[in-house]
Order: sequence, then structure tokens, then C-alpha cells
Amino acid sequence: MKKIAVIGCGAAGMMAALTAAKSGSSVTIFEKNEKPGKKIYITGKGRCNVTNACDVTDFFNYVKRNPRFLYSAVYDFDNSAVMEFFENNGCHLKIERGDRVFPVSDHSSDIIKTLYDAVKKAGVEVSFGTNVLSVEASNGTVSAVTYENGDNPIVREEFDRVIVCSGGMSYPSTGSTGDGYRFAKELSHSVVTPAPSLVPFEIKEDWCRDLQGLSLKNVGLKMYEKSEKAVKKKKPVYDGFGEMLFTHFGISGPLVLTGSCYYDKEKEYYLLLDLKPALTEEQLDKRVLRDFEEGLNKSFKNILGGLFPSKLIPVMIKLSGIDPEKKVNEITRQERQGFVKLIKNLPMTVQGTRGFNEAIITKGGVSVKEINPSTMESKIVKGLFFAGEVLDVDAETGGFNLQIAWSTGHLAGLCASEE
Ligand SMILES: Cc1cc2nc3c(=O)[nH]c(=O)nc-3n(C[C@H](O)[C@H](O)[C@H](O)COP(=O)(O)OP(=O)(O)OC[C@H]3O[C@@H](n4cnc5c(N)ncnc54)[C@H](O)[C@@H]3O)c2cc1C
Repeated sequence: MKKIAVIGCGAAGMMAALTAAKSGSSVTIFEKNEKPGKKIYITGKGRCNVTNACDVTDFFNYVKRNPRFLYSAVYDFDNSAVMEFFENNGCHLKIERGDRVFPVSDHSSDIIKTLYDAVKKAGVEVSFGTNVLSVEASNGTVSAVTYENGDNPIVREEFDRVIVCSGGMSYPSTGSTGDGYRFAKELSHSVVTPAPSLVPFEIKEDWCRDLQGLSLKNVGLKMYEKSEKAVKKKKPVYDGFGEMLFTHFGISGPLVLTGSCYYDKEKEYYLLLDLKPALTEEQLDKRVLRDFEEGLNKSFKNILGGLFPSKLIPVMIKLSGIDPEKKVNEITRQERQGFVKLIKNLPMTVQGTRGFNEAIITKGGVSVKEINPSTMESKIVKGLFFAGEVLDVDAETGGFNLQIAWSTGHLAGLCASEE
């Protein structure tokens, strides 16, 4: 019987421990918090988007870094298997828009309870309030973990296998403070520099802050790299459609969070917001012309109510450079066409992203080049496994990141129990 330590009682840790215990191992989870699944609790705005019910072959399109690394893990324990697991254990699920899967109860606590009950039933020992300080190896094989629990003396305990499921660095108040990167580095693993992802953008232009609180639906957002080469190519690194929100620092909302997956802090980016993506520039010009013809004697500032929400009107007037008091019949064709271009391509400069405190996930992490994708075992240290967000894999929103945790956790737990 293998003696296995699992570091972290989050999504990946609980799945790994459960699978290992069911495969006949003696398993202990070490968790620095006083309860399981502190991060799962806040997922999906407290509802937990537990996975995505997409065709499993489509799953990999939503993974932004190293999708191929995940093939074995995902095919070993895919989204259907995850749904079956929760349903069979009494937590009923429902599928919403975009194939997002949630518990019927809309309570993430039901996901945690179902999983944790299964973990306990399988005989896993869970040591809460226990902070793992280091993982040791001797002769290229994992040998022990050292941990502290409150005021008790520091303990060094030997294990046959260690599965690191300590998460990334985002929302550090949930316990994910990047400790796993340190364990990995201390055991000669490379770590791809972690960075916040699925995170809001800070925007240079002051007018964004004037719009704080304004939410826009059905808009288009394109993100371009600023380098000369990229400008020549004119191909956006991201082209999305959906909902966004102006904040006191810039922009947020689903459309922006997805865009942030493509952000690299070494590069500079600008954004073009399309306020009327359903219309071509020509169609929009006709529409604006019609509005102008219907209110020939009105001033420019009084003709825009049908085009934009009221908060946006003063900003659009200012950016257009057209005198707000100018009578519509005095607006030149050139001015009107410039205005139409602005509506279709409202420019913003990305100054950076918000920090880990506001990032849904961490991109970067333990390099997958040094992990066997068929087992999740380290290629450097025998008996050492990694699963979940600690790895250099990340995906868009929609339940994909939790699926990565379930799949990699399951495979690690299974393989760690093998001879
Ligand atoms: C606000 C928010 C909403 C999200 N919503 C969704 C969603 O709806 N759907 C989705 O798919 N994904 C969502 N995610 C992402 C998803 O939650 C994570 O990708 C997933 O939880 C990662 O699981 P994990 O087990 O790898 O890590 P974590 O869940 O971070 O768990 C790691 C655990 O390890 C423990 N730990 C760390 N270091 C040590 C140590 N030294 N000793 C002992 N214990 C340690 C931590 O306390 C923690 O409990 C969301 C994330 C956030 C922040």
C-alpha cells in the first residue's frame, strides 16, 4: 500500500486524494486552511461552474496554454465523468448558456460537500490548519514532507508519493499563495513565470473612468499588439463579442477577462471597441444619416439618445471632436464618417492588468515539459506528482479551469497509487 501526501484540499487535491484512496493507497491531505475548498466556494459567483458540457474534442480549444499536455488527463476523466461523479453522489447538476454546468441548487457549497464527503468516505485523512513547508527527495525519489500546524513543533513525515495540488497565486486569501512553485523549484523543476489571467485591464485613457459603472452588452472588442510588425499584419490577437463593464481603473466583464488570456506583460497593446458590431460601417453610416435627417435642426448632443446609453453620450461627443452645439444639418460628411469610424473603433490603450487579488486564474506555473502527461508524475523526481492550477495550463472561463483540476487530479491520484 502506498503512503501518499496530497498538498492542498482544493479541487485538484480532493479529486487526487479520492482517486488514490479508492485505488488502495493510504492518503493524507495537508491543507493550510481550516476547511476544504475555500476557492471552490467563490467560483461562479458562489454557484460553481463545475465543468463545461461541450463536446470533449472542443474542450481543448478553450485551453490557452499547453492544451495537448492535457489529452491523457481529460480523456481519462472527462467532463461527462465529472458530471456523472456529482450526479451519482447526490449533487444534481444543470446545464446553462454556453454549456456551463452548475449544481441545481446554485450553491458551490454543495459541490464542496459532495466531494469532501466522498473523500472522507474513502478513508482519506485530512489535516487542516497544516502548512506544508517543504517537499524532500533523496536519490531522485520523493521521500518526505515537512509541515507546521499551529504552535505544534514542525514535523517531518516520510511518504512514498507526494501530489502537489497547491493551486496558483490568484485570490491568495483562499490559501493559493504559490507555495507549489517553490516546492517545484527546490526540486529542480522550472517554473514558467506566473502572471494574473482572466483579469481586468487597466486603461490609460481618462474617459474610461468617467464611464465607471456603465455596462455594455453585445459589443465587440479587438486587441492588437502595438509592435510595428503587428500593426503591419493588422491581425488582432483577440477578437471577442459580449459584455463588458467600465470601472474606476479601466475595464472588466466577461469579454475583457477572456481577452486578458492573450495579454503578455512584455508587450504593449491597444484595444478597439465596436459599439455596434451588428452593423457594418456602411450600414451604421446610413443609420446615423437617417437620425440626422430626422432631426435636422437639433444640436449634435441632442440627437444621440438612440445610439448610446446616456452616460456614454458626453464621452462620444468629446472624442468625436464635433461641437456638441453644432446643428446636425451643419455637420459635414467627413465629420459624420469620422464619427461612424469612432463608434466602430473606439480606441483604448492597455496599461496593464489588475493583480493576482483580482485574477480568476494564474497563467504560467510548473513547466509541463518536465511532467509526464500520461501520469502527471515529475520527469525529474520519481514519486512526485503535480495537478491543477499549479501547472502551466490555463483556460477561458466556462468551467474549463475546474475541469483541468478534476482531470489532472484524477490522473495523478490514479498513477500515484501504482507500483
Ligand atoms: C473568483 C473565482 C471564480 C472562479 N470561478 C470558476 C468557475 O466558475 N469555474 C471554473 O472552472 N473555474 C473557476 N475559477 C478557477 C478555479 O477555481 C481554479 O482554477 C481551481 O479552483 C484550481 O484548483 P486547484 O485545486 O488547482 O487549486 P486551489 O483551488 O487554489 O486549491 C489549492 C489549495 O492548496 C492549499 N495550499 C496551498 N499551499 C499550501 C501549503 N503550503 N500547505 C497546505 N496547503 C496549501 C490552499 O489553501 C488551497 O486550498 C475561479 C477562480 C476564482 C478566483
